[in-house]
Amino acid sequence: MKRYVIALDQGTTSSRAILFTRQGEVAASAQIPFAQHYPQPGWVEHDPMDLLDSQLRAAAQCVAQAGVRPGQIAGLGLANQRETALLWEKDTGKPVGNAIVWQCRRTADFCTQLRQQGYTEAIRARTGLRPDAYFSGSKYRWLLNHLPGARQRAERGELLCGTVDSWLLWNLTGGRVHASDYSNCSRTMLFDIHRQQWDETLCQLLDVPRNILPRPVENSGDLGAVAPGVPHLEALAGVPIRGMAGDQQAALFGQTCFEAGDVKNTYGTGCFMLMNTGNAPVFSKNGLVTTIAWGMDGKVTYALEGSIFVAGAAIQWLRDEMRLIDSAADSEYMATKVPDTNGCYVVPAFTGLGAPHWDQYARGTITGITRGVNKYHIIRATLDSLCYQTNDVLKAMKADSGIDLTSLKVDGGASANNYLMQTQSDILNLTVKRPKCVETTAMGAAYLAGLAVGYWKDKEEVVKNWEIDKTFTPDIPDEKREEMISGWDRAVKCSYG
Ligand code: ADP
Repeated sequence: MKRYVIALDQGTTSSRAILFTRQGEVAASAQIPFAQHYPQPGWVEHDPMDLLDSQLRAAAQCVAQAGVRPGQIAGLGLANQRETALLWEKDTGKPVGNAIVWQCRRTADFCTQLRQQGYTEAIRARTGLRPDAYFSGSKYRWLLNHLPGARQRAERGELLCGTVDSWLLWNLTGGRVHASDYSNCSRTMLFDIHRQQWDETLCQLLDVPRNILPRPVENSGDLGAVAPGVPHLEALAGVPIRGMAGDQQAALFGQTCFEAGDVKNTYGTGCFMLMNTGNAPVFSKNGLVTTIAWGMDGKVTYALEGSIFVAGAAIQWLRDEMRLIDSAADSEYMATKVPDTNGCYVVPAFTGLGAPHWDQYARGTITGITRGVNKYHIIRATLDSLCYQTNDVLKAMKADSGIDLTSLKVDGGASANNYLMQTQSDILNLTVKRPKCVETTAMGAAYLAGLAVGYWKDKEEVVKNWEIDKTFTPDIPDEKREEMISGWDRAVKCSYG
């Protein structure tokens, strides 16, 4: 009987489920998008029931597609959009309000206040993060302060809070397990990354009662089992849940970046570059954050991270708001209709700027528009913005780690775009390597679970599954590169808030 590991990947715009074989091949997959809510400029919400329902249905479709019978699934791994925060009722499992999505800027003023009050260093030293609306802690505070009765109910022990990993795990286990893995905990601004515990002082500073927080757990190990009666998942009842990680850490694992110095960059809704820094945290002097990559077998691995908030989302904006393209994939063919951007730069700072600029109040900007600029130039400049933002992060990473990379492993939906990857290589002046399986987030979740159940023997076995699809090498003169980058540097400054 053929056996598989199933990965659930609850992303920002869709929920996916993938069935993996031992060779790391995709045996079946399903993807279900869900609604985004923008109640005010700079605010982003998801309905927690949409997240859950789309995820369960995707899992059910995936299993049905492969005709899997009970006993054929060795384990389940979860990956999730990180930092997105929500509250739910302990007794009924009913969400209290919508989830505040990682991109949401509604708590920017509170985080600015934390910085002005001089808490930046204390927060950085304990959590590896900088006070920013991006992280979950201030989102919990907002929910508790603004949803009617929420704070009183939380204090009475009637509510639970969590990031999307906890929400899914709690539901998958029929309300038995309220836990969050180290990688997700380390994105809250409430977690001591050295001791792997919630930090009492920070919980007080952010007004988040300890009793509603999930229990921190390692990323690979016993997280419970799929309970009988979970809607749509009858076929998976009893399957052991053995892996869980935030999507970017899962992708780092899926790219088999197991050694200190290994780096990957994911091009999804946002763009996230992570470097494995081994068993000790490295603190950034250049605008990156320090995060837990994973905890396994009693050991913690850390990472340096550069988070770019808007990457593929800018391509969606071209499609949905500007209506310049019919599909994200069309951007490739449209961008190559012109030889350059005609001096035009798009800075997609729709929700402020993340690493390494960190300006919560920056907003999107287009510079260099002259009479000759047409839609193809704008499309090309939007794609190029992903490459420039990545270049800014990579420079910071080199400075912090002292490591000069020889190549960059890429993945995520937009990494399928060959124009984008070639331009990335040109701008970074670095070889870019795209693996055959770009579903590395799901793959990482599958590996975390599969290693815990012995489906894969060890990491060495997993490394053998990494196969290259295409290599991109730099192909522009240095002067051209410098000219392009200096134009970008000017454009970014125009977007500052
Ligand atoms: P997430 O997991 O964050 O939802 P994905 O990894 O699925 O994201 O990537 C989807 C993103 O990639 C979308 O924002 C989409 O606009 C972008 N995208 C997908 N395909 C392409 C392409 N061929 N060219 C450029 N962007 C693309």
